[in-house]
Amino acid sequence: MELSSVGEIVWVLGVVAWYMIRYPFERRAKRSRVVSDRRSPSDIAGLAAALLGLAIVPGFYIATGIPETADYPASAWAVALGSIVFATALWVFRRSHKELGRNWSITLEIRERHKLVCTGPYAVIRHPMYTSFMLMGLGQAFLLSNWVAGAAGLIGFAVLFFLRVDKEERMMMENFGPEYRAYMERTKRIIPYLY
Ligand code: SAH
Repeated sequence: MELSSVGEIVWVLGVVAWYMIRYPFERRAKRSRVVSDRRSPSDIAGLAAALLGLAIVPGFYIATGIPETADYPASAWAVALGSIVFATALWVFRRSHKELGRNWSITLEIRERHKLVCTGPYAVIRHPMYTSFMLMGLGQAFLLSNWVAGAAGLIGFAVLFFLRVDKEERMMMENFGPEYRAYMERTKRIIPYLY
């Protein structure tokens, strides 16, 4: 088997695992009442960009080989590193879903009896789920030996993150006030101890 196909298979398996982690939370979220909904056009645009970059563009590339002109030779190191980074992303993704529990939402919402979670990965960073998207994008860049399909994930992540993070933190601040302010002082956004 060609090395580039190995990277593609790892990516497909990773995306399937990603969905298996997320699915139960999506089901449960439908049953928990929302008291404040901040869904906005920019929030939806961010989600669409993430979906496009982390799923549709790479999925289309794997299925059709398009854009072929952006292909470059795969390397065993890149595939190995990409697999490790993607696996780490899934681990962070699963840990943060478990920790957020019933407070999880695909968009910006406050639920009934919403609790501020400051434990597990949330003890060091405020947005571990976005960290996992960033790692997934990075893993994708190493796994797919194509400049366009490879870079799409990190671009999609960046669009979602920067459209959303200020609003999300403002929403949390409005709801949790001093508790969130104190939480912000002792944590970083997505990279432990750095940013
Ligand atoms: N930004 C977080 C969560 C993404 S899910 C992360 O990257 O891990 C988005 C929802 O999570 C938002 O609707 C918000 O209500 C909720 N949320 C975000 N941070 C939270 C926290 N520390 N405790 C409880 N809920 C939180």
